[in-house]
Amino acid sequence: MTPDQLLTAPAPALPALRGAVAGLPSYVPGRRSAGLDIAALASNESHYEPLPAAAAAVTEAAGTMNRYPDSAAVELRERLARHLGVTAGEIAVGPGSVGVLQQIITGLCDAGDEVIFAWRSFEAYPILVELAGARPVRIPLDDAEGHDLEAMAAAVTDRTKVILLCTPNNPTGVPISHERIEAFLRSVRSDILVVVDEAYVEYADAGSGPDSLTLYRRYPNVCILRTFSKAYGLAGLRVGYAVAAPAIAEGLRRTALPFSVSALAQKAAIASLDAGDEMESRVAAVKQERARMAAELEAQGWKLQPGQGNFLWIRADDTLRATLVDAFDRADILVRGYQDDGVRITVADPAANDRVLRLLAAHAG
Ligand SMILES: *Cc1c(COP(=O)(O)O)cnc(C)c1O
Repeated sequence: MTPDQLLTAPAPALPALRGAVAGLPSYVPGRRSAGLDIAALASNESHYEPLPAAAAAVTEAAGTMNRYPDSAAVELRERLARHLGVTAGEIAVGPGSVGVLQQIITGLCDAGDEVIFAWRSFEAYPILVELAGARPVRIPLDDAEGHDLEAMAAAVTDRTKVILLCTPNNPTGVPISHERIEAFLRSVRSDILVVVDEAYVEYADAGSGPDSLTLYRRYPNVCILRTFSKAYGLAGLRVGYAVAAPAIAEGLRRTALPFSVSALAQKAAIASLDAGDEMESRVAAVKQERARMAAELEAQGWKLQPGQGNFLWIRADDTLRATLVDAFDRADILVRGYQDDGVRITVADPAANDRVLRLLAAHAG
């Protein structure tokens, strides 16, 4: 070709992404602090600095980062087993519980299999399901912002492989009671894996949600999903875990990306479990703030569901959502807006929470 022909020739086709990938939403990076007084209330992170014991464990482990981590995470799994009263064989760890969830879905679903979950719930659910070539089945929340378990049970087909229950639910904060989950489990086939995502379990009042370990012992098709990212404050290190029947947990360990949980994360997670009391006192302070904010917002005239996570949920149509997100943005408060649904705000330290309350006072009623 002459140079002229080259200029007018159509661009050669690039290798095509799979349809499921091309259809995924692009990741929109959150605003970064530029030394301003930005309140980061969009991701339900802990506002506390890492637990001192976890930070010390990371510093120590940093000296061995020329080595691969223990891919089987034996020490962490044994520590978790002791913490939970199960065996290490019933535990699979991964890079965040999102990582474990990806192992669950790719480990159980063939193309076209169905995964049922409530909507709105955690944004990662439809993405992981579609990425695996499986089919997301979204069941609308009930009027009280909770899971409609009857509708979820009715949506089961012979292609259903996994059902995701999120309690307390992200972003609405509403838990699912033990009795309701147990009734649900009685009605669901035992060859469907029922994943109970308890990312915020530490923040839930005792008795508000399920005793998931008891459910797991009674119903071996239950899989409990937990994380060190939220109450334990290790979001940046990426470590979470599942408790599941030994054969399932073994399958999850096999589907894991090798070495995906760093030695730093494993050591920090063990140190965090050892410092459980400290974590609990931090959680108690957040829960106190949650109650203070809920009472104040009610006095302002907001009608909110009582939430059990470290966040508040404001149901809002798109006009109100856009108004609120814009107002928060201009006040350097980062929150999460959800199209058609509302706004989620992480509960943090009293000063940041006061900024939220002041802003919302101007929009109440
Ligand atoms: C934050 C969150 C997770 C955990 O994410 P990690 O990957 O462990 O950081 C899982 N489920 C829900 C519902 C969450 O909100």
